[in-house]
Amino acid sequence: MTGPPAVLLIEDEPQVVRFLRSSLGDRDWRLFAAASGKDGLREAANRAPDLILLDLGLPDMDGVEVVRNLRSWSRVPIIVLSARGQERDKIEALDAGADDYLTKPFGIGELLARMRVALRHAAPGAGTSAPELRIGDLRVDFEARRIFRAGAEVRLTPIEYRLLAALARHAGKVVTQTQLLREVWGPGADRQTHYLRVYMSHLRHKLEGEPARPRILMTEPGVGYRLRID
Ligand code: CA
Repeated sequence: MTGPPAVLLIEDEPQVVRFLRSSLGDRDWRLFAAASGKDGLREAANRAPDLILLDLGLPDMDGVEVVRNLRSWSRVPIIVLSARGQERDKIEALDAGADDYLTKPFGIGELLARMRVALRHAAPGAGTSAPELRIGDLRVDFEARRIFRAGAEVRLTPIEYRLLAALARHAGKVVTQTQLLREVWGPGADRQTHYLRVYMSHLRHKLEGEPARPRILMTEPGVGYRLRID
């Protein structure tokens, strides 16, 4: 990557575009904006941005369609910006291949943190199969399939391990309930969200210092879960 990363903002609300233009700054990011889905797709093809911020409520097409279109030819990280009341669309967008989401109104600090995470994981080779993951005093050795907390080995059942590994593959990003159920239990388990509640609770009891106040295995209410790495 040469120069500051290029961000394409696909958003029809001028206030949001102005806000991001002034908050991102020219030094760290180059921001391009498109006010419709069609323009956004054209700009994405022309400018090959490093990251896309996508509003779901666009005047000409559904944001979820924009994600599907992008994913048919690009792996660029996509962060969805959704308004309240677009809960279902947001989950659909994540299932369609968006990497993360923020609900409006959002704080610029959080947006920037999510943007940095998205870029880090877009780096070539990252996020695919790192042999080891370290978060605080937790260490996951994927090659040996062993987990250590503060140096002591933690025993996980095969399902618990698969769930942790699925979250770790998308570390730092939100993973929807549907995605997790499919990756861990298979395509037939799409709706068994209670599996997730039960097994996330098991994992938290084994891996978190205070299971009721998780610091690593975060719940994204109504959407899914996120393995926090920052
Ligand atoms: Ca909008």
